[in-house]
Amino acid sequence: MVASRIAVLGRGVLPAGEPVLRGDDLGVLRGDGLFETMHLRHGRPWLRPEHLARLRAGAAAIELILPADEALVELLDDIAAGWPTQVEGALRLVCTRGPEGGGPPTVYATLAAVPAAARQARHDGVSVVTLSLGVPAAARPELDWLPVGIKSTSYGASSAARRWAARAGVDDVLWISSDGYALEGPTANLVWSTGDTLCTVPARRTGILPGTTVAWLLAHAGEIGCAAAERMVTPVGLRDADGVWLTSSVRGLVAVHTLDGEPLLPGPRTRALQELLGFPLP
Ligand code: PLP
Repeated sequence: MVASRIAVLGRGVLPAGEPVLRGDDLGVLRGDGLFETMHLRHGRPWLRPEHLARLRAGAAAIELILPADEALVELLDDIAAGWPTQVEGALRLVCTRGPEGGGPPTVYATLAAVPAAARQARHDGVSVVTLSLGVPAAARPELDWLPVGIKSTSYGASSAARRWAARAGVDDVLWISSDGYALEGPTANLVWSTGDTLCTVPARRTGILPGTTVAWLLAHAGEIGCAAAERMVTPVGLRDADGVWLTSSVRGLVAVHTLDGEPLLPGPRTRALQELLGFPLP
């Protein structure tokens, strides 16, 4: 097992356990910050430019001033230096608004081996329950004051949903809008296939997180003979799909084998999609 690491902008890699945050950091007090989690493969963060672009878009939306990309890349290089190339890593980059009284943003990175459970889920698939989000699908993007589609450190609702899933004895959750559409999971995007078309939920129209993994997958769907489309779907529609998956940066692509207690058709494309994305199977 490789030891986890932490590195702080301007301080470099620090011993694990070294304090890196002030108690009055607004990231802690208010969840006022952004983060990205990347898949470190062969010692390099996969889709780094896409993650940095999403971070920058989120920062613009919440008026958070970020260091230059060169400084962020240097931080990521520092923490990844010497990481064993055969070990998949979960590389997190965190940028908060910094101390309460004002001051520079707090910027640090963490790196840990991809958890065994995440790797196993690529092989086993996951059971999922639908949970109501309590708002119509189009409601959030219509609020011009509300930044949507940002990867905020305010993860209270996501954590609550995942605890709910654990209590219910299932692996994950799929949020459903009050008008009945499937949106996303607390840490993953939804993908399904209908014939030769790979589909996902439109992020702009719904305010869900525009996932880097799903964007890459749909942009490369042609390589496995598929078309790509953004569509709205209901849980009933998912039952008719040829395959249903969740995608995210660290777990990769996992098949949803059970939805609300009912088995789904095992997607014949799971292996091909995982190979296309380049996530190793356990
Ligand atoms: N949707 C939400 C709410 C997420 O938190 C995440 C990732 O953590 C995703 C989707 C998947 O995004 P990505 O593929 O960029 O990891």
